[in-house]
Amino acid sequence: MSVALNIDHANAPRPDTSGPVSLVGLSKSEIAARLGAMGLSERDSRMRASQLWNWIYVNGVTEFDAMNNIAKRLRADLAQAFVIDRPEIVSEQISIDGTRKWLFRFRDPSQPNMPPVEVETVYIPESDRGTLCVSSQVGCTLTCSFCHTGTQKLVRNLTAGEILAQVMMARARLGDFPGGTRPTDGLVPSGDTRAITNIVMMGMGEPLYNYENVKKALLIASDGAGLSLSKRRITLSTSGVVPQIEPTGREIGVMLAISLHAVRNDLRDVLVPINKKWPLEQLLEACRTYPGVSNAKRITFEYVMLKDINDSDADARELVRLLAKIPAKINLIPFNPWPGSNYVCSDWDRIEAFADIVNRAGYASPVRTPRGRDIFAACGQLKSETERLKKKDRDAFLL
Ligand code: SAH
Ligand code: SF4
Repeated sequence: MSVALNIDHANAPRPDTSGPVSLVGLSKSEIAARLGAMGLSERDSRMRASQLWNWIYVNGVTEFDAMNNIAKRLRADLAQAFVIDRPEIVSEQISIDGTRKWLFRFRDPSQPNMPPVEVETVYIPESDRGTLCVSSQVGCTLTCSFCHTGTQKLVRNLTAGEILAQVMMARARLGDFPGGTRPTDGLVPSGDTRAITNIVMMGMGEPLYNYENVKKALLIASDGAGLSLSKRRITLSTSGVVPQIEPTGREIGVMLAISLHAVRNDLRDVLVPINKKWPLEQLLEACRTYPGVSNAKRITFEYVMLKDINDSDADARELVRLLAKIPAKINLIPFNPWPGSNYVCSDWDRIEAFADIVNRAGYASPVRTPRGRDIFAACGQLKSETERLKKKDRDAFLL
């Protein structure tokens, strides 16, 4: 029987495992359950799971041998059954503005025969913070007409472990774990600030089409006994998967960003085609009722500036009118071109005029400075070379 690799199957459990299991991405209770299956008592399983959690997420340890509060024999057993998996770095590029882009290659240790996949992760340093832009899928099922990732078909969803491993690897590269060394080029925040203070799910893919894995990864990233990133410093961006917006607020509780980009349905149908399924009225209603939304926890509305497409004064006024009753921030993103793109970025004067209208309505600093354009790391420029599996390979793996 052959099965097509569509969105549903991209989420399906993969065939039975044959290699060690990666601990990164398992919840603490899942780790405890696996330890129980190895013969540890319930109490020991819980205690060891907490120790492993600390070694992995607080100390950034990748070898069981370094875990000096765990007996040698147990360490050896753990090393037989598990790995603390990190991706391979295919490339690391540094922009003249300090932005870094990594191409990571993931192999599933328990599925040695599955082909690897590659994803891009971007680090954007500022003087007082460092933001990591994390991918949720390899490619995207959606086809927003101005987005480079949208030209790459979905290869597969990333697992929770692979989403987290991007954070772990970036932290390791930036010397963000105890005993690590900061890069000496001065392009990470200074002082005691961690190199990575914020996470944005704005890399490749639509996070709400990989909801369960994204939820699991973000709950682990915000766990106070682990990576301990505040939920207020984690932002999930969606093109508008309306039914998943309420669960995102209720179950994950992170900040929300909406890729709005147009204020009329006819235009949004073209720019962000998911609008045909969930039009503006439904999207904005989901925002008005987003669990936890308040003036202190505003929703960010992203709006890409496309010359002569969505950048008129009338568009700006309509934008302000549409968002009037929603606690909102507006982020105007100058369009970042990519090879073969059909759009042009609005002229700077036009962006300023548009921003002025938005500003006068009370939204501060609405224009996002493009970062890392020289290394193709800016919004919407990410695309990996991992091809959608050829039908022959797909059948072989999903039989
Ligand atoms: N898929 C999710 C998150 C990733 S995209 C989403 O669409 O929200 C992150 C942001 O960059 C989105 O607002 C997206 O619309 C925007 N973007 C995509 N291509 C762009 C481009 N070429 N120039 C500027 N912004 C772009
Ligand atoms: Fe996918 Fe987001 Fe790009 Fe649209 S903008 S194609 S949803 S990654």
